[in-house]
Amino acid sequence: MAASAESRTYVVTGAASGIGAATVRLLTERGHQVVGVDRHDSDVVADLSTPVGRQQAVAAVRDLTDVVHGVVPCAGLAGITGVDPELLVSVNYFGAVELVEGLHDRLASSGNAAVVLLSSNSVTCQPAWSAPVAKACLNGDEDRARAAAAKVPAVIAYPSSKAALAWWARREGVKKKWAGAGIRINAIAPGLIATPMTVEVKADPVFGRFADSYPTALKRPGRPDEVAELIGFLLSDAASLMVGSVVTVDGGTDAIKNPRRPKGVATNRVASTGLAKGMSLFSTISQRRRR
Ligand code: NAD
Repeated sequence: MAASAESRTYVVTGAASGIGAATVRLLTERGHQVVGVDRHDSDVVADLSTPVGRQQAVAAVRDLTDVVHGVVPCAGLAGITGVDPELLVSVNYFGAVELVEGLHDRLASSGNAAVVLLSSNSVTCQPAWSAPVAKACLNGDEDRARAAAAKVPAVIAYPSSKAALAWWARREGVKKKWAGAGIRINAIAPGLIATPMTVEVKADPVFGRFADSYPTALKRPGRPDEVAELIGFLLSDAASLMVGSVVTVDGGTDAIKNPRRPKGVATNRVASTGLAKGMSLFSTISQRRRR
């Protein structure tokens, strides 16, 4: 089904720069209303790094609009030298999830809503991230997440916060509270996109030289408008079957770095029969559990 031409109301954080600004442009050009949230130059000026700032942001959005058809939390900090990893986790994870949670009733009352979270291909392409940071995020424990983040550099805290966002989209997206209320949650995993954030990354005295070391099949970084197109699609009715997906948008970096092939398991008649029996048993147990 083609995207509906009706005008909708969306909330975009990090609206003053980069991917957030490109998303605001795209949605506005398509005739939608957008409430931008950022630390500066936005409809709602708020600091998403603290619970109080997030509550103020949610309250200000609620004052501006009774209906919200979608939320795109783009506000984020890069994992570079000089960035406080605790602050990073608060902005990147809790600044996104708490805003979405705070607008749940507005999203539900629209009857047909979507959330697009900004994860990152650093989750699958960077050599390491911290499971304790991601786990504390997913447990909704900001103090513990910050304490775990304090033990690692920002470069590790960054993919940890983004892994947690991707998992949150998958875990929550399928629940009655969200999908059952007509709210589709998905996440995207961009690669290197040319924005003010990546200008900062490239200027980093320690990690700057690695920024361009990730290969892409297209031999160029992405543009914010290319990411905004994907966000626009995921918000639209054209993506009506998409729930709990994490969509990579990176010019091929993840495919190059993780060239996994699907593995078949049954190679002969005996193995095939055993597999079929196993699947039948699994199906019976699953059906009994559902009853
Ligand atoms: P950007 O730096 O251009 O924009 C980020 C925006 O977030 C800024 O306008 C900033 O003011 C805002 N922000 C930061 N802290 C905030 C706070 N405490 N409260 C409110 N607003 C705050 O970044 P970008 O490159 O457009 O990135 C957007 C999102 O996409 C981020 O979440 C980023 O992690 C993610 N991402 C970016 C890339 C990339 O290569 N650019 C790749 C993968 C994921």
